[in-house]
Amino acid sequence: MIFRKSKKIKTDTETSSSEISANGTGDHDEQVVAEPSDGYFKRLRDRLSKTRKTFSGGFDKIFSHKQKIDEDLLEELEELLITSDIGVHTALKLVDKIASSKISDVDEIKPLLKAEILSILAPQTAESDETLASPRVIMVVGVNGTGKTTTIGKLAARASQSGQKVLIGAADTFRAAAIDQLMIWADRAKADIVKHQEMADPAAVAYDTVEAAKARGVDLVLIDTAGRLHTKVNLMEELKKIKRAISKTIPDAPHEVLLILDATTGQNAVSQAELFNEALGVTGLALTKLDGTAKGGIVISICNTLKIPLKYIGIGEQIDDLQQFDAAKFVDALI
Ligand code: GDP
Ligand code: MG
Repeated sequence: MIFRKSKKIKTDTETSSSEISANGTGDHDEQVVAEPSDGYFKRLRDRLSKTRKTFSGGFDKIFSHKQKIDEDLLEELEELLITSDIGVHTALKLVDKIASSKISDVDEIKPLLKAEILSILAPQTAESDETLASPRVIMVVGVNGTGKTTTIGKLAARASQSGQKVLIGAADTFRAAAIDQLMIWADRAKADIVKHQEMADPAAVAYDTVEAAKARGVDLVLIDTAGRLHTKVNLMEELKKIKRAISKTIPDAPHEVLLILDATTGQNAVSQAELFNEALGVTGLALTKLDGTAKGGIVISICNTLKIPLKYIGIGEQIDDLQQFDAAKFVDALI
């Protein structure tokens, strides 16, 4: 690694480049919920405050006592990136970029890092594909407690607000409470629900939901699933069965297998994604609870490790706390 000659550090006035760029273009904005673009960004920034504190606060701390880009500074940076759950591999990649860059001024590190992080996130930003099929069937999977049911409620609300007819399938049949919770969300979201008895065959529920959707002219179908089973039945086998049942009624469905990951579980989320993807072919990710963690760097780790589009982020427990992932705005809100 070659380091440039040292330069005096400038006073840190790096405060609002993020706001400036975020207010610019509107082409990534929310398409379903009528929310002004600056409203989207403001809320995102607000909810990411814990992670931003780790990131930006950490940078400022390093830069306040480092005047030149040297091995020490790069090590501190690497440590900071790893602490924020960016993953060792990704952290090393970013630090290497800085080391091999032509920059010599510590003030140039942050903008470079932002650009590099954006280049990791941007390819994983999905185009909006909400209207491709009718009915469009989304099978929602993930381990217990990651936020499947909540995300379904939020997605249903977005879709009904935009005038779509939504039907939810209660295919997590292993606890009566799971069905009740889903009914509450369906009610809030003004969506209909198809449910069977507790312990009913989840694949049968999924099948009936999609059949009903076809009969009723539904636009969007959301299938809730279990994340853990009480019986000896293998979860992945059960989920595969649900997926097959869905495609029996519409051959190219489910159009989306949406995996819900909990940002607070850190690197664990990456291993979950690998497991679910291997079994089911995950087509999109939603990362929840970004409001509740200082380790939002996991977003970068996930986008760098998995080549699966990150479609949504959950930034709170309320019905409107789901955003379509926007790489540029995310980076601006983060650093
Ligand atoms: P499931 O077991 O995967 O269906 O998970 P749930 O939807 O029941 O959610 C588990 C818990 O996570 C609930 O208390 C939710 O309110 C909470 N939760 C879900 N998404 C978010 C989010 O984006 N932010 C926060 N703070 N909590 C969330
Ligand atoms: Mg649930």
